[in-house]
Amino acid sequence: MLNALESAIMEKGIVLEDHILKVDMFLNHQIDIPLIEQMGRDFYDYFKKYEINKVLTVEASGIAIACFTARCFGVPVVFAKKGSHKNVGDNVYSAEVYSYTKGKTVQINVSKEYLNSDDKVLFVDDFLANGAAANGVIEIIRQSNAQLMGVGIAIEKGFQAGGKMLLSSGIDLYSLAIIDKMEKGRIYLKRRELC
Ligand code: 5GP
Repeated sequence: MLNALESAIMEKGIVLEDHILKVDMFLNHQIDIPLIEQMGRDFYDYFKKYEINKVLTVEASGIAIACFTARCFGVPVVFAKKGSHKNVGDNVYSAEVYSYTKGKTVQINVSKEYLNSDDKVLFVDDFLANGAAANGVIEIIRQSNAQLMGVGIAIEKGFQAGGKMLLSSGIDLYSLAIIDKMEKGRIYLKRRELC
């Protein structure tokens, strides 16, 4: 049986060229609040085994998911800001991230004020493709000496390298929906193991 996110992907997701999935109807433009709330609860159920004290994401599309997840944990959200240091000040951790959808490299920054060695961090994001955003966030966490406890992804594109990369580095990755392939406008989800 499909979970709520998988059903939304199948019913409302639009396959664009170059294997990009458009989910503006419920996640990236209009936001389906009950759906995102459920996703936050799902991340909480999986990651509650850890003592997480901060949820980290990247602006803008990760923020809503991060907020509902953080609400379940009762912890704050910190989102990495894109662009130069100007809007976060000079006292920042920074990393370069190649944006797969925009075809350009952007800098992401987190103020040193909001991340430090006491933090046990859950990183959440809307999509995992090649893992560039995740790598950037991992680099920022490394600079801050915080601890990455896990990575929660709404939609993992299983045909791209990010998932394998994170798992092979021993990271606890939990994706709510995994897309096996997209072909001729059709979406094929990864089948869940029957237990
Ligand atoms: P990665 O850094 O893992 O290559 O790509 C993840 C980031 O790129 C996500 O934060 C997301 O914003 C964007 N992204 C990657 N693939 C897709 C896609 O198929 N659809 C949408 N809407 N965004 C994507």
